[in-house]
Amino acid sequence: MVARGPARRGRRLRPRSVQTRLTLAFVLVVALSLLFVSAIILNRLDEEFRTQERQNLEDRAAQVGSVVVFAASVAADGPVVLPGNVVDPQVAAALSDEAFLQLLANRLGRADVRISLGFTTTDTAGAVDVVPASNGTYSATLTASPEPGQARERLAASTTFGPINTSTLFDPWGVETILANPYTTRASTLATITGLLIATTLLALMAAVVVAAIVASRFSIPLRRLTEATRSLGAGDLAMRVPTAETAAGGAEIAELARGFNAMAARLEESVATIRHDRDRSREFLADVSHELRTPIAAMMTFNELLRERAGEDPAARAEFLESSRQQLERLDWLAQNLLELSRLETGLLALDLRPDDLRVCVESAVEQAAAGANRRGVALTLQMPPNPVRIRHDPQRIGQVMANLIGNGLKFTPRGGSVAVEVKNQRGGAAIVVQDTGVGIDTTELPHIFERFYRGSQADEARGSGSGLGLAIVKSIVDMHGGRVTVESRLGRGTTFTVSLPRDPRPAEPAGGEAGEVVIS
Ligand code: ADP
Repeated sequence: MVARGPARRGRRLRPRSVQTRLTLAFVLVVALSLLFVSAIILNRLDEEFRTQERQNLEDRAAQVGSVVVFAASVAADGPVVLPGNVVDPQVAAALSDEAFLQLLANRLGRADVRISLGFTTTDTAGAVDVVPASNGTYSATLTASPEPGQARERLAASTTFGPINTSTLFDPWGVETILANPYTTRASTLATITGLLIATTLLALMAAVVVAAIVASRFSIPLRRLTEATRSLGAGDLAMRVPTAETAAGGAEIAELARGFNAMAARLEESVATIRHDRDRSREFLADVSHELRTPIAAMMTFNELLRERAGEDPAARAEFLESSRQQLERLDWLAQNLLELSRLETGLLALDLRPDDLRVCVESAVEQAAAGANRRGVALTLQMPPNPVRIRHDPQRIGQVMANLIGNGLKFTPRGGSVAVEVKNQRGGAAIVVQDTGVGIDTTELPHIFERFYRGSQADEARGSGSGLGLAIVKSIVDMHGGRVTVESRLGRGTTFTVSLPRDPRPAEPAGGEAGEVVIS
């Protein structure tokens, strides 16, 4: 419990928005880089300055050494170091002079000075060593005040002059000079540079914050737009889209995500619209079916009532009412059959019995069956077919049904003296059946609707009465199942032409559905 408290608090303090996180991450990276670079620069400069100062100190130690050698040589009448490794008293007096030593420390060396005079020894490697004489060591502390920016530094440098041989009679002598704790500007220069680096780092960090905030906002704004769009979509606003111009600023991936989202939303909207449309169509369909059923049922109820009352005793009236009832029952039966057929076709419950037969056979049979009706109506029915078999894979019974509907409509909507011409044609990739009449024609405003269920046109009222508006819907469903197309061209008062195009074999390209039933107005 105790351990979990701070952890939870830490988690709560952690930034939540992408923009803040990205900004912090960017600033952190910049800060770490600058810190690293600064540390390396300072380290290298420190080493460089130290080397330089040591070099300077060595140079100054050499200068001090040469001045001492000169002063000793000038002060001595004879040898500088007497036998027994003792410095000549005059030389010793000259070198131990306070003013002289202060001059060496404060002016020449600018460091604590320690001078040793004495005989020299040379080892086998050639290194010269001064063995200080008993009175040969002199030293002075740096007392001069430092120049601006200077400070004492723990540094030392030494030089050795010798062996000096003034005469072969005496042993060679030498001088060792040690300069220590000099004044240097290293610390202050480093401090100045560190200050500059800190200032630059702060400026760079401020710039990084601004840049990171701008860059992060380029990511976060598109993401926010996506979130808003998702929320709106969830709330049911299917028309909501992500503005692609804004998301493009967030990079290719986010733009792609936005495009994908918009495509998904568009598909969803489309699907919901289709479902709504289907639902409305179903409602209309149900209303239409109820209406279609009510008319014959109401008629039969009236007949039944009349028969039960007084007309029952009159044989002539009875026969008439029974005949009318039979007709209404037939109509009901026909309606029920068509509805069942259509629903089986549309739900795909009905499988086609596809055979590679001659298309001419079923068309010819449909024309023959319609011939008697054509005669009765005084309409000429003609058939034109190619001499050779038209072999396409089709369901002969269903195509026969299509033909019966189209020829039936042609006869129904063509006045006495007109004609209905049926033609079977070979065409690229399949065959076409054309049913052309010289009837009343169809109004251009009605053309787009004639394939809808229960749709009945406004022309030819008396003919319209005998239909139910299901025939062309059945035609379209059957042609769709064959992967074909049914098109219509019509001119009011001149006639109508239906063309059914069927592929040679519907199996490789199953009906796409969308194109079928296309209406061509001319
Ligand atoms: P119906 O059973 O009423 O004939 P259809 O679905 O077969 O139903 O036809 C729908 C409507 O299309 C008809 O009511 C009619 O207005 C129009 N129609 C169909 N075929 C023709 C045609 N050959 N000439 C004129 N109008 C036609």
